[in-house]
Amino acid sequence: MKMKLLSIVVPVYNEEANITCMYERLIEELSPLPFNYEIMFIDDGSSDGTLEEILALAERFEGVKYISLTRNFGKEAALFAGLKRIRGDAAILMDGDLQHPPELIGQMVRGYEEGYHQVVAKRSRTGDKRIRQMFSVLYYKMVNSITDVDLADGEGDFRLLSRKAINSILQLSESNRFSKGLYSWIGLSKKIISYENVTRAGGQSKWSFGNLVNYGIDGIISFNLKPLRVCFYTGFVILFLSIVYIGITFYDIMTEGIGAPGYFTTISSILFLGGIQLISLGVIGEYVGRIYNETKRRPNFLIDISNAEEYDEP
Ligand code: UDP
Ligand code: MG
Repeated sequence: MKMKLLSIVVPVYNEEANITCMYERLIEELSPLPFNYEIMFIDDGSSDGTLEEILALAERFEGVKYISLTRNFGKEAALFAGLKRIRGDAAILMDGDLQHPPELIGQMVRGYEEGYHQVVAKRSRTGDKRIRQMFSVLYYKMVNSITDVDLADGEGDFRLLSRKAINSILQLSESNRFSKGLYSWIGLSKKIISYENVTRAGGQSKWSFGNLVNYGIDGIISFNLKPLRVCFYTGFVILFLSIVYIGITFYDIMTEGIGAPGYFTTISSILFLGGIQLISLGVIGEYVGRIYNETKRRPNFLIDISNAEEYDEP
């Protein structure tokens, strides 16, 4: 029987200090496995010696593949590029800063052999700043209550994907990628392995506080239209309240006469129109939202198994 191929996908951006060490640690874990392997480095437009390090490795070792992007497109895009060009029967996605311990590869591969399509290495938050821990707990509570996909803290990109999972991910070709949501969206069987948080080996994290906030917003926006709906409902509430207010004040005026002239008419028209405007914005929002979803061109479904071929119109 032909040996299966395992692809390791590593997006790197300014990681010159870590490439060689990463390679050595990977080899240590990969060579005892009953798999052929390829290591795919994606240089995400690094401005330091990262690419040179990779090229030097690729020259010496056949198992090293690489893609170099024309500029820094971000980790999500780099991963996508990598997934498109690997040939493995399964792939493991890892960071290039040794925060994802290669020692877990053995366990992940075992999960794959047991038949799981996704084997996720879930990291604990030990060593993270208290405040960041608190924010992430709150964030995930909120996201899970308003979006349609399940996201879990600590379950990031460090995971093994079967060929089927890889192909499913490749079908989601939207340009604004929120991969945590995508892994959850495709479904398929999943096994979780836990590990202790590790701090970066060298270089610097590319996440600033602002990046994290943006990432958080992406997480909410790319998986539902509920924020738009908030507008719609607020409009209804304001409209309802303004009608109640107008009714009561009108009754007062009829029974007790006008207090301050002009006040009633001004306030009631502002409230009433405000309500109507918010509702209209909500309606427009719904349409924009639909268009937004369509432009992503996500497939409407993914087939698990079927005994019928796709029907071609004659
Ligand atoms: N990375 C990338 N492109 C980017 C930013 C990061 O390919 O624009 C890579 C980076 O080299 C590393 C991984 O993505 O291998 C994770 O990045 P980082 O360590 O900065 O994130 P953190 O671990 O702090 O979440
Ligand atoms: Mg890191």
